[in-house]
Amino acid sequence: MVAIVWLRRSMREYDNTAIVRASKNHDKIVPFYVVDDEYFASHDLGYPRVRFWRDSLADLKEKLQEKGKDLVIRKGKPLKELKKVVDEVDADEVYHNRDYEPYARERDEKVSQELDISVKTFKDVVLHEKREILTNKGEPYKVYSYYRDKWFKKEKRKPQEPENYEVPKLESDNVPSLEELGFKWEGDWPWRGGRKSGKKKLEKFVENQIFNYEDKRDFPAESSTSKLSPHLKFGTISIREAYWAAEEARKKTGDESGIDTWEEELAWRDFYFQVLWNWPEEAEKAFLEKYRGIDWHWDDKHKELWKKFKKGRTGFPFVDAAIRQMNETGWMHNRPRMVVASFAAKDLHVDWRKLHKVMSERLVDAEIASMLGGIQWAYSVGTDAQPYFRVFNPWTQGEKHDPDGKYIREWIPELDKVPEQYIHRPYKMPEDVQEESGCRIGEDYPEPVVAHKEEKEKAVELFEKAS
Ligand SMILES: Cc1cc2nc3c(=O)[nH]c(=O)nc-3n(C[C@H](O)[C@H](O)[C@H](O)COP(=O)(O)OP(=O)(O)OC[C@H]3O[C@@H](n4cnc5c(N)ncnc54)[C@H](O)[C@@H]3O)c2cc1C
Repeated sequence: MVAIVWLRRSMREYDNTAIVRASKNHDKIVPFYVVDDEYFASHDLGYPRVRFWRDSLADLKEKLQEKGKDLVIRKGKPLKELKKVVDEVDADEVYHNRDYEPYARERDEKVSQELDISVKTFKDVVLHEKREILTNKGEPYKVYSYYRDKWFKKEKRKPQEPENYEVPKLESDNVPSLEELGFKWEGDWPWRGGRKSGKKKLEKFVENQIFNYEDKRDFPAESSTSKLSPHLKFGTISIREAYWAAEEARKKTGDESGIDTWEEELAWRDFYFQVLWNWPEEAEKAFLEKYRGIDWHWDDKHKELWKKFKKGRTGFPFVDAAIRQMNETGWMHNRPRMVVASFAAKDLHVDWRKLHKVMSERLVDAEIASMLGGIQWAYSVGTDAQPYFRVFNPWTQGEKHDPDGKYIREWIPELDKVPEQYIHRPYKMPEDVQEESGCRIGEDYPEPVVAHKEEKEKAVELFEKAS
């Protein structure tokens, strides 16, 4: 009896629930991957995400081949390619891990309906899914804090090794090259996809960084967060490995500091996945119905402002540093993600879907559930969102979370020599200080492109008008 394990985003063999479960029932398994042209055409993909995915796919194929197995890759439409491989090996079952985004749900439902053999699906990507954690009235949670309390109490299974299995010899396409896929990058690429790099990052993080996480996680100049997000997105490590590594650190050291706070982030991740599953319309529309009609701006002036925003040239150093960090590395620290999204909403008044597109194209960890959650939170249109009248001040956020301007200097070289006193508001530099620091405002670095105080008031009006 042969089973096909259709892999999508869990790019590892260890603790891959579909492989583990298939290996309990089958001696022969075909790990199978379809490079889906339709997905490439219909999603806002960019080099960072595609590169990480591609490297992780290549790594998985190589690792399986080293064990005398293989990853069979086919290019085409998933249903058609699955039907072909089922016939080739006379498979009697297809196994796959569940995915929660609308596109994947539709695709997977179609596959289940149209394949005439059994299709078994598994929870793998999250610790708790769908309707596993419900309110006392049996409804899915919209408020994080109550969800979190139950999330922490719920049992979490340990990672598992698959049993022995053989992979029948089959023809496989190559892992597509980036040129073939049409994606290019200028400069150094700072990420390594694949399992080895994910495991190393996790080990390093739980060895020491996790203990300082609570105190340091809001300071983007510190390397204090795990940077595991692309590995969790593409499943080069499993979410259970991440959770239990943190628990192991707690047990070994007895040191609680940081661990609960970090695990809370894993709970946020699950929370947003269950929000998207239970309210899939969130992918297209604001979660809060009363704000669906907000009159976001998109006239010529705002199109120009958006261009400057995307280049990191708004004249607000903390925002610009964050955008440039994303443009140059494919990643942005969480605190500036919140500030940038708030700036796009409440200083520029540009539709949240435009920011979603930019972040989808530019982030290595672009993940629809967490991104929608984060953006709609900052835009005050999401579940359990920041109230609309609470507006981040882009200057004081910088002063608070990057007090000496280290982060700003790292990403905005033209501000490198600006004295600490002006680093957050360089437009206030007197002429002679501009001269001395080699940074002329309006030439080397822009004046603020909007007046924050006025825009903040306009934002409040927009929300009040809509509701
Ligand atoms: C506007 C905005 C957009 C975002 N877009 C994404 C995205 O596309 N993909 C993504 O994975 N995260 C996103 N986040 C959440 C968060 O910023 C990143 O997960 C985090 O910065 C990744 O860095 P890390 O791996 O070092 O996180 P750590 O602080 O080490 O956290 C560990 C893991 O927990 C998860 N996590 C952490 N914070 C959150 C959060 N607020 N919500 C959901 N999960 C979280 C991630 O998987 C992360 O890898 C977004 C947040 C905001 C405000």
